[in-house]
Amino acid sequence: MLAALFRIARTALLGFWAGAALALPELDLREIAPGIFVHQGLYELPDTHNRGEIANIGFVAGERCVAVIDSGGSPEQGRALKAAIAARTAVPVCYVINTHVHPDHIYGNRAFKAPGVSFIGHHKLPQAMAMRAPYYIEKATRDLGYTLTAEDFVPPEVTVQDRMELDLGGRTLALTAHGPAHTDNDLSIYDAKTGTLWAADLLFIGHLPVVDGSLVGWLKEIQNLKAVPAKRAIPGHGPVISDWPSAIAAEERYLEQLAADVRTAIKQHKTMEQAMDSAGTSMRNDWLLFDEFNKRNVSSAFAALEWEDD
Ligand SMILES: [Zn+2]
Repeated sequence: MLAALFRIARTALLGFWAGAALALPELDLREIAPGIFVHQGLYELPDTHNRGEIANIGFVAGERCVAVIDSGGSPEQGRALKAAIAARTAVPVCYVINTHVHPDHIYGNRAFKAPGVSFIGHHKLPQAMAMRAPYYIEKATRDLGYTLTAEDFVPPEVTVQDRMELDLGGRTLALTAHGPAHTDNDLSIYDAKTGTLWAADLLFIGHLPVVDGSLVGWLKEIQNLKAVPAKRAIPGHGPVISDWPSAIAAEERYLEQLAADVRTAIKQHKTMEQAMDSAGTSMRNDWLLFDEFNKRNVSSAFAALEWEDD
């Protein structure tokens, strides 16, 4: 009881010091395997109400220190995550891993900037962050209802070319930099100690997969991910699942169907607009947020596949 009161008071004070509203956004952090805590985001589009706090975020605790995996969808959510970590473990944060450039995964970074904390990401993440920051800052003001500055974009100072291991004390995280898939800067994390694969947005459960990298590349990376001997996987959106690798089958089916439909449309000399009305639509009832993202996926796939046979 006292501990709970202390946590509430501490959380409120942190918010106050940050000059933000008194209450930081609530997190529902669950320990899904020993030392691995995940807050599951809602199936929503980012808006002024949810402030972009829609992705799964969390942390892995070792005996020596903590690795944050995706820092939050807003600066406040980053502060809330930082406070929640301090309430659950006495060891300090030593790593902030960003799984890719999307705002819902990186906007909490600034809260963790401190001596002794290394920011880690795919070798293409710094460039992606720098390229997108001006647009993302404008978009935050317009769509999320708050102001971001260049300082909110904390790029990784340590980048993963292919693979990298991080020792947290008593557990080692294996990081893999993937080829173009969900984005061109996707990183997955495997904790051998618990057999947990933190797949982030390489795995969508329930929420329609979003293609912002390469449809064909993603299908290839799915084959690599399936070979990971995981007992459970953490998606970027949707619940943690324990039936790996069968849980990625639905995503694979959708992406394969999308590729097949787009290729057919191109062969039939249809325009991108015509393809957008038909490709993938047989899978409409299998996914949440289908109407919000399918056309965008078709246009991305069409632009890439159009040149496939040339
Ligand atoms: Zn994403």
